[in-house]
Amino acid sequence: MTEILTKSKILCTLGPASSSTEMIKKLAKTGMDCARINFSHGTKETKTALFNLIREVDTHLSILCDIQGPKIRIGKVKESIITLITGQDFIITTDEIEGDQNKVSISYQSLPQEIKIGELIYINDGIVCLQVVEVTDNNIHTKVLSGGHISSRKGVNLPTTKISLKVPTEKDIEDLKLIANLSPEYVAISFVADGDDIITVRNILSSHGNDQIKIIAKIERPIAVDNFEGILAQADGIMVARGDLGVELPLEQVLPVQKRIIRLANIVGKPVIVATQMLESMVKAPIPTRAETSDIFNAIEDGADAVMLSAETASGDFPLEAVSIMERIIRVSEGLIPRRNPEDYDSHNGSISEIIGHLVYNTCQEFADLKYEGGKIICLTNSGYTASLIAKYRPSLPILGITSNPKTAKILRLIWGVEPILLPEINTVNHTITRLKIAVKECLNRNLINQDEMLIVAGNLLSLPSQTNMLSIIKTEDILNVN
Ligand code: PGA
Ligand code: MN
Repeated sequence: MTEILTKSKILCTLGPASSSTEMIKKLAKTGMDCARINFSHGTKETKTALFNLIREVDTHLSILCDIQGPKIRIGKVKESIITLITGQDFIITTDEIEGDQNKVSISYQSLPQEIKIGELIYINDGIVCLQVVEVTDNNIHTKVLSGGHISSRKGVNLPTTKISLKVPTEKDIEDLKLIANLSPEYVAISFVADGDDIITVRNILSSHGNDQIKIIAKIERPIAVDNFEGILAQADGIMVARGDLGVELPLEQVLPVQKRIIRLANIVGKPVIVATQMLESMVKAPIPTRAETSDIFNAIEDGADAVMLSAETASGDFPLEAVSIMERIIRVSEGLIPRRNPEDYDSHNGSISEIIGHLVYNTCQEFADLKYEGGKIICLTNSGYTASLIAKYRPSLPILGITSNPKTAKILRLIWGVEPILLPEINTVNHTITRLKIAVKECLNRNLINQDEMLIVAGNLLSLPSQTNMLSIIKTEDILNVN
């Protein structure tokens, strides 16, 4: 028996509950593929230290740095928690004050000029809702439509207000400078509005000498949903950021949007992450709710490449248990996900990689019809593009992504179904068959393939400068016997 690999990937946000060597090791062993560093919190020094620690603990882990974007927050409040009562008056001010029962400050200085009477202000993930009744100078006078707790620096959402804040903010630009230097595999951008935001961020990273980092657009505002096609065209991947999206959109619209976004991202073969509240109850409890377990299964069934944990692993009481539960749900889902109709996932972009991706899917189906035992997909990939276009069809057989590029190996950690295998020595070999032989030997050593199983090999014959150009069906032992 060869090792059974899981196909859907897990992202864990690291924070106070998970930033030790020991914990990072354990999370990786339990199923974490990619560590997320949230740039909304901490200093330059703490983020650099965490980044270096992750790299030190596990060189195979992928890292995603998540920049805050134009997130609006309330300021400090005097008590640890203030409870607003439905029906009371409450003032939001741009004056620097310590907040109390009647008044709180806000980080966005132009808000009094941009907000209109009757518009809604949400605080603390949408729990508290205020309606604007009057604006005088720096003060926005509101009525509490639905009361609840607020505390220092809680997030604010303004779904009905046209605000002029854009990504990247001054803070983002500073953070991007640091990120370009750290060089993670991925950077996620919060609150993007359109494809131009992605271009701006890409240019900033480039101007700091790094054009290798893949950019993930976080879809968390209605405007991003409206401009989704343009964003998808520019970004390297997508995150369905349901935390803010669920405040900015009516809650019942989040799932239909999630499904649509996943399908469109799958068609172009760009990774898509479903994020936030996946196992929220596990912040405080060792087991999740039944609804949460269904949510993870459904996200995978919809076609998510990866599912993400936020507070569960960053600050929760049961970070390891959360990853372990996620991994268990993923394992069960793999055998049960219905077959895709590959025609539905052709983008018709004219790339040879896509034709090969589609053919690989068909070949897997042939193997199944012929009742072949086992079978693996061996993908020789340099940038990871071929592997992504094979994965997007969700073939039934495992994809072994062989690469000599250490960056690509880590980028592939986030792509559904791909097990990256880093083999630097194949870089120096000219003949495709020799490279393949080295790759197959390594897979055999790692117990990923069998002596007598059929391999579907995709890659670049003769290392031509063109895209993927080879698809071949060969038995393991035949490759091993080549002289
Ligand atoms: P955040 O993004 O955790 O940075 O807010 C995710 C989300 O909004 O869902
Ligand atoms: Mn968010």
